[in-house]
Amino acid sequence: CKILAIETSCDETAVAIVEDGKKILANKVLSQIDIHKVFGGVVPEVASRHHLEGLLPLIDEALREAKCQLEDITAVAVTNGPGLIGALLVGLSLAKALAYSINKPLIPVNHLAGHIYANFLENDPKFPLVALIVSGGHTDLIYMERHLEFEIMGQTRDDAAGEAFDKVARALGLGYPGGPLIDKLAAKGDPLAIEFPKAYLEKNSFDFSFSGLKSAVLNYLHNSKQRGENIKIEDVCASFQKSVVDILVDKTVECAKEKGVKEIIVAGGVSANSGLRRAFEEVCTREGFNLSIPSLSLCTDNAAMIGCAAYYLYKAGRVGDLDLNGYASMPLDGYSQ
Ligand code: ATP
Ligand code: MG
Ligand code: FE
Repeated sequence: CKILAIETSCDETAVAIVEDGKKILANKVLSQIDIHKVFGGVVPEVASRHHLEGLLPLIDEALREAKCQLEDITAVAVTNGPGLIGALLVGLSLAKALAYSINKPLIPVNHLAGHIYANFLENDPKFPLVALIVSGGHTDLIYMERHLEFEIMGQTRDDAAGEAFDKVARALGLGYPGGPLIDKLAAKGDPLAIEFPKAYLEKNSFDFSFSGLKSAVLNYLHNSKQRGENIKIEDVCASFQKSVVDILVDKTVECAKEKGVKEIIVAGGVSANSGLRRAFEEVCTREGFNLSIPSLSLCTDNAAMIGCAAYYLYKAGRVGDLDLNGYASMPLDGYSQ
């Protein structure tokens, strides 16, 4: 079963060919970061136009790399939400045309399910499990009893974890996207230098909130400047990152304990963060959880993860019609039915 997967939900144009949900025959990502960097964030219309230009050549490249003909493809998978609607529609239109022209099934994939399934490409996570999705637009704690069943245990009430990284980076004048830049500087700073707040919310809540932390960092920068104090940017990064990491790790482990699972998986762009990876490795070793985090290139947006999720959807008979639509928001629960 060879699935050709297309992902255009945000600012990476991505095409992959994945065999049996495991073997990555090709995984091409055309990042638009350099294009959007100038604006300090993703400009939706610009993203759509670049997807349109980049997608067809990228499909050719992926087929060449996988040494495949279009006739060898079993099904075409595509992200149909959540994401930028214009960007999604570019991938969706092409996927429909392609599936129709080769007379093969079309498989719609939820982008967040894709992030989770990045873990099933390289590892073999066992159910039941708890998954933490930390990305540019989402921070979700999810319980999974079996494939394609997602129970939302907690979500962010304001900013997503990646969004907090990007906003703090912007305030520090670091550029876009901020996560990787903060990660790098944090490695040279003292995480205990500044005590930023951690919002644990109500007891037993698995929800998150990062806007208070973000404001605390902005206030700290503002006040230090007013007092004419020297700001050590590495310390700000390290201390901010520690607050985010502590909350994410503590809540995930708490949730895994409440659900009585042995398996924890982490997914989404922020799971590339070195501090987060280290903290999860430490606590999981200490407390006896099996941990899965994708390799760095599979944490951020890619189409291999979409091809992997699509394999399980295909096996479950969950194929789409040619009137398939794209959705800017698309919850993961409900997706299960
Ligand atoms: P979503 O998946 O919610 O639709 P998205 O697709 O835009 O959003 P991803 O590509 O999964 O998000 O992740 C991008 C986010 O990951 C950005 O906010 C970026 O700053 C963050 N990120 C990437 N690398 C790191 C890192 N090393 N440390 C912290 N954050 C990081
Ligand atoms: Mg992106
Ligand atoms: Fe993403």
